[in-house]
This record gives sequence, structure tokens and C-alpha cells, in this order.
Amino acid sequence: MADHPTLAEIASCVNGYDPNALPVAQAQEFIARLVPRVQAVEQIAIRAALGRVLAADVISPIDVPPHDNSAMDGYALRGSDLADDRDTTLTVAGTGFAGAKVGGSVPPGQCVRIMTGAVMPAGLDTVVPQEFCRVDGDRVTVPAGAVRTGDNRRLAGEDLARGEAALTAGRLLRPADLGLLASLGRAEVPVRRRLRVAFFSTGDELRSIGEVLDEGCVYDSNRYTLHGMLTRLGVELLDMGVVRDDPVALETAFRDAAASADAVITSGGVSVGEADHTKQVMKALGDVLFWRIAMRPGRPMAIGRIEHGGKAAILFGLPGNPVAVMVTFYAFVRDALLAMSGARVEPLPMLRAASVEAIRKKPGRTEYQRGIVTRAADGWQVKITGAQGSGILRSMSEANGLVVLHHAQGNVAAGEAVDVLPFDALV
Ligand code: AMP
Ligand code: MG
Repeated sequence: MADHPTLAEIASCVNGYDPNALPVAQAQEFIARLVPRVQAVEQIAIRAALGRVLAADVISPIDVPPHDNSAMDGYALRGSDLADDRDTTLTVAGTGFAGAKVGGSVPPGQCVRIMTGAVMPAGLDTVVPQEFCRVDGDRVTVPAGAVRTGDNRRLAGEDLARGEAALTAGRLLRPADLGLLASLGRAEVPVRRRLRVAFFSTGDELRSIGEVLDEGCVYDSNRYTLHGMLTRLGVELLDMGVVRDDPVALETAFRDAAASADAVITSGGVSVGEADHTKQVMKALGDVLFWRIAMRPGRPMAIGRIEHGGKAAILFGLPGNPVAVMVTFYAFVRDALLAMSGARVEPLPMLRAASVEAIRKKPGRTEYQRGIVTRAADGWQVKITGAQGSGILRSMSEANGLVVLHHAQGNVAAGEAVDVLPFDALV
């Protein structure tokens, strides 16, 4: 493993670091300093590149479009032939179709019937849409003021100039980017290797689907929400199931995960009063910190690096409560995994919505309440989804966004605007 700072060194760089009451922003900064980036690069077809991270700048080898061309079906003409104050009649010298070559030049006083995308004939600089014109045999009359010189002409290179960076390294490729790459004639692009993420649930009370739900047990739901969130991120998944609260089973699971993945995500077993072995095993296998984060839900979290066979993986030990898992994933893990994938991480867009009701909130911690955002007459409004207990997964399922009540924020009055993170913006 390459040289990397220890957790203590990172902590000393984070202003106001306090592991027992860590503000969300400080935890995010810490994690951003901790995570390494995947280095390996592979060359793939552009169709396969959706959601992948571009590994190098893509420089345009051509002007796009390569020629001046028409933006409309109509008549290409010389702007200087048009009179300002009266209609102008021109003779149609020929027709220009998209994709066809137009030879020769067009003498003054003449125009060319032209189709959208057709190359502008030499000397002509303006297109008048056909619906503006009166046509009489090979004569076309353009009404005064219908167009100005340069109208409806797309200039060579106006989309991209030759030599310009069309896309830069770190770009998470979206549908428009695939089209942009195709417009340059690019068949393949270099992308970073997909991040491998191992995950498992810990706790003796957990049962997997298909097992009998013994007294005092619950079905393991965290692995399924994690599966969904990780799939949306486009990482490679390694689902390691439920691991019993047994030191040997836990140690084997952590070692296997460290050996085969870039990141390991666990849920459960990290709270302060926790009697189980998860924390001890985490500690024994690497450099791991146990935080109490100033947030709700999701207070306890383990973070660090675990190692096995000379290979290290970043550990995200999330709390066990089903809502806390999702909230801590969105607050910390999502950005961290994108950064590890080599992506430039952009801040998530938030909506401003008027809170339908008053919300009680203590300053000094960040709260993520589940809300339903709807359109109001003059913007958005948001209503909290009933009981907000961190075990009530239904509050998450009913919601379409997280109401983010910031660290310093206090009570919210009915009608006051709050920030909402729409779930659709999360990946
Ligand atoms: P812990 O953080 O391990 O103390 O767990 C907190 C709560 O979350 C307990 O009620 C657990 O039963 C519950 N929990 C932990 N892991 C899971 C899981 N994978 N699926 C559903 N509930 C869980
Ligand atoms: Mg537990």
C-alpha cells in the first residue's frame, strides 16, 4: 500500500476535531482526507461508459460541427442582399441537402434552398426559415425584417473547437457525455477501474430472508438498502451476508473483505454500549476510530483502514438502525466512494422548501428528517413523514427527500424555508 497518513495525522489537520461530538462537516473533511483514489485505468467502448469515471481529458480532434451549417429548413442567402425597409426577392440557384457537398459559389442576388444541417454554401451567411417566405417558381420573396445577417446559421466549432477539452478527467459520464464523445468520433475512452465494495451486516439477532424468524430476531434489511444505494453508485458489489457476533467469524469476514475490496461497509455493532465483538475485531485489524457524530439519526460510526495480506481497505462501520444506515451512507459514504472512484465530487443540489409544520430542532447537531416534498403555488413545500425513529424504515420509504437541518440551526417555524435533499439527486 502506498504511503498514507495515519488517522491521528489526519485528525490533527481537521480543525475542531472531537471524536466524541464530531460535527458532520468535520467528519466529511476527515473522510475526504482519508480515502485514496483507484489508480488502475481501462479502455472501454463509450456505450459501456455510462456512470464510469473518465481517467483522462478528452481533447476534441475536430471542430464540431465541422462546417457552418443551417439550423433551419429554408433559404440560405447573403445578409447583404436584404433590404432593410422592404421585401427582397431572390432567385433560387439550387438546393442544399444535409450531408451533401455544395460546389461553387452563389452569385449576389441568388439564394439556395437549404435543409437543416446542410453545409452553408460559400459566401452565404444567413438562413431564412421557409415559413417566412413567399415562393413563386424559382423566385423567393423574403419579407422586410424577417431575418438579420447571421441568423439560423450554426458556426463550425460552435459546439466544440478542435483542440478544446470536451470532457475532463474525473468526469462521471452521463448520457449527454456519451453523445458528445460520439460527436467527436471517439469509439472508446479510458476510465478508472470500478471500485470494489464489500458489505455485511453484524448482529446475532439478524436473520436472512428464507430463514425462520426466531424469537427476538429481525430480518436483515440493511444489506438490501446498501445493495440499492451501492448499485446506484455503479460500484462492484461483494455482498458477504450476515456475520454472527463471533470473534472468529468477524475476523475472517473483515480479513476477506480487506483482501478483496477497496472499501468495506458494515452495519451494526459500533455503538458505545455495544457488548458484541465487532469493535474489538475492527480495532485489532487496522487503524480504526470510533466516532460519536453530532447528527441525528446516525450518531455512532467507525472509520478507518483495515489490512490483510499487505492490502488495505477503507472501513465504514455504520450504525445498525435501518434509517441511520441510509442517512450516514448519504452523508459520508456516497461522496467518499465517488472520490475513491476517481470522480470529481460535486455538492449535491438541495431544494428550498417551506416546511408545512413547525419542527423542533436543537442547535449543535445536524438532523436529517424524512420529508415529502410537493409543489406549492410559489415553489416547494415539505411535510415530515410522521414518526422519525431511526429504526422506522417506513419513514424513509414514504419520503422523497431528506430535510437537512444544519448544525447551527434551531427550531423551524411553520412556513419557514428549509433545505431538502431530493432522493432523486443522490446518484
Ligand atoms: P446496533 O447498532 O448493532 O446496536 O443496532 C441498532 C439497531 O438496529 C438494533 O435494533 C438492531 O437490531 C438493528 N439492526 C442492526 N442491524 C440491522 C440490519 N442489518 N437490519 C435490520 N436491523 C438491524
Ligand atoms: Mg448490534
